[in-house]
Order: sequence, then structure tokens, then C-alpha cells
Amino acid sequence: MDPFVYSAGPARVLFETGGLAKTGAELEFLGVHRALVLSTPQQSGEAEALAKSLGSRAVGVFSDAAMHTPVEVTQQAMAQVQSKNVDGIVSYGGGSTIGLGKAIALRTDLPQLAIPTTYAGSEMTPIIGQTEVGRKTTQTTSKVLPETVIYDPALTYTLPSFIAGPSAVNALAHAVEALYAENRNPVTSMQAEASIAAIGRSMSGLMSGAIDENARADAFYGAWLAGTCLASVGMGIHHKICHTLGGSFNLNHADIHCLMIPYTAAFNRDHAPEAMAAIARALGVSDPIAGLFGLMQTAAKTKDLKSFGMSLDDIERASDLAMERAYYNPRPITRDSVRNMLLAAYEGAHP
Ligand code: NAD
Repeated sequence: MDPFVYSAGPARVLFETGGLAKTGAELEFLGVHRALVLSTPQQSGEAEALAKSLGSRAVGVFSDAAMHTPVEVTQQAMAQVQSKNVDGIVSYGGGSTIGLGKAIALRTDLPQLAIPTTYAGSEMTPIIGQTEVGRKTTQTTSKVLPETVIYDPALTYTLPSFIAGPSAVNALAHAVEALYAENRNPVTSMQAEASIAAIGRSMSGLMSGAIDENARADAFYGAWLAGTCLASVGMGIHHKICHTLGGSFNLNHADIHCLMIPYTAAFNRDHAPEAMAAIARALGVSDPIAGLFGLMQTAAKTKDLKSFGMSLDDIERASDLAMERAYYNPRPITRDSVRNMLLAAYEGAHP
């Protein structure tokens, strides 16, 4: 057998419908008495209600979290952290809000309690991406890993299917790349396959328009597993392309992951046979790329890069940017190969 190294993040995870009610007790467990609750503007109502339920344990709400963690927003939140003498962070929301909590922890080392409401998975990772002057840079440090995570599937019931579907495929993309990561191990591969299976079986329920509680719990469970994979092993060309499109063209993070995954997986197909077999098993299909393309078609509201407003000139620029500081990938990357993946996604053709 191949030798491997497995390291797990130290986070405490609660997975429970109705688990939100345990926020106060979990803050007590962390020794937090002056929490700042974070959210996006769209979730400020829920954040205010949570802060109210925490009584004097919450000293404020900052509800201007934005996608890709712009440094100027972090600076505004830091002003509140300092003026209110905050001793802990509660991040209530998707990856944007959790990213802001991490950015504060990076600067202060304050403990974080993350309450995710999408499937992005950032709450499980020691990774932080920040955007400054139109460029996203990522670093890995245990300082930003939230101490406690509460997964309450009920909090995702308000996610409309046009956000839930792409967000779940965003999580699945972490699992797909974990399967062919250079530093993969039997544990992450097992988690990745289980993640793809859970998200795959959630998809019709997620997109049905009604609240399918089992599907929401499956998607969240898959997202948690995918987040643990993202935390443990390196990501490849798919994440490099999505970071480029998100950070430099300000395209929606989950929507871009959802669109690109069949194209990037197709590029790696012949160089990652075990990963492809695992994806096929997990989705219960014979052709893993057709399975991923089908999931994308079901989940995505924007099914080609042209409809994101990208131009052919943008594709040339993105191809250059994606070649900078390359990530490991099982198939060697050239500028032409990146350009070809982007052009295929631009047209939305079957890869
Ligand atoms: P997001 O956090 O911006 O959420 C998308 C939208 O959905 C927002 O308007 C939000 O208010 C809304 N929303 C969230 N939960 C909702 C709910 N339950 N009901 C109704 N509306 C809801 O987007 P995201 O896709 O979750 O996260 C994207 C960000 O996360 C990006 O900046 C990405 O880089 C980052 N990310 C980081 C990591 C990491 O490990 N560092 C991992 C994944 C994603």
C-alpha cells in the first residue's frame, strides 16, 4: 500500500436540525462573552435575531460581509471589533461571511463560532482568500480555522434552489479535486466519495422548489465532508480557474464552480482513473463526466461563460492569470489547455 499522511483540523462540529439554539452554550464553552455577529446585508435580519437571542453575550452585528473577502470590508469590521472590545466572532452565513470571520481571526486570533447557511465548506478549512485591488490571494494558517461549527440544516431551508444547487456543486467540486490531489489519502478519498454521493442524491430534492428536509440534510452533510477534504489536501486546476474567475472578474463563486467542474474534470479524465471511477460509483453512472455535466445542467442557473458576461478578450486574460502560481494538477497545464477549457465553458458544450 502507498504511505500517507492524514491531518485533521481541530474543530468541534455539531450537526443537528435546530442546533442554532445551542449557539449561546457553545459560546460559553469557548469562553466568549462579547461576541460580534457577522452576516451579509441579505441575512442581517437573521443575524440581528441571533444577536438578540444571545442577550448580553453579543455586543453587536456587522452585516456588510461581501463575496471574496474585500480587505476594505474587513477594515470596517475591525473598527467594530476594537471599539466594542469583542472577544469572539459568530459568523452566520455562507462562505462570504465565514471569510470575513476568518479575516478578523487572522488579524486578532479571536475564537470563531461558524454557523454556515450554504454548502461552500469554508468553515472547515484553515484557508483564507482575500481580495485587494482586484486580485484574490489565498493563504493557509490554522489561525483562521473556526473553533466550533454548528450545522443546522433548517438554516438552509431559506436557500432558494438557484443558490442551493450551485452551492452544493461548489462543495462537490472540492470532493472531486480531493480524489486526484497529490497528497490525497485513503481517509480523504473515502470522505470525498461519500460527499459526492450525498450531494448527488440531494440534487433533485434541492432543485424541486419544495423544502425537502432529507435533501437539505444530505447536501449539508456532503458539504461538511467536502469541506474537510478541502482542508486536508491540495486543490488542482479547477480551483485555480475558479479563483481566477472569481477574484479577477468578480464572478459568483458557487456559480462558477458549478459551471466549470465538468470541463475541468474532463481535462483530467485520463490522468486520474481512480478518481473518475470513484465519481462514477458515487453518482451511480457509467460515465463520470456525463454525470458531472448532468449535475451542472440541473443545478446551474447560468450554463455557459458567455452568459456570465465574459468576453473572448476576458478569456485570453483569464488564461494568462490562471498560469500564474500554478497549483499541482494530475495532468500538466499549459496556457492553451486552460484557454480550451474556458472556451468550451464559454459555449456551454458537452465536454
Ligand atoms: P455567499 O456567502 O456570498 O452567499 C451567497 C448569497 O446567499 C448571499 O447573498 C447570502 O446572503 C445568501 N445566503 C446565504 N445563506 C442563505 C440562506 N440560508 N438563505 C438565503 N440566502 C442565503 O456565497 P458562498 O457561495 O456561500 O461563499 C462564497 C465565498 O466563500 C467566496 O468568497 C469564496 O471564496 C469563499 N470560500 C472560501 C473557502 C475557504 O476555504 N476559504 C471555501 C469555500 C468558499
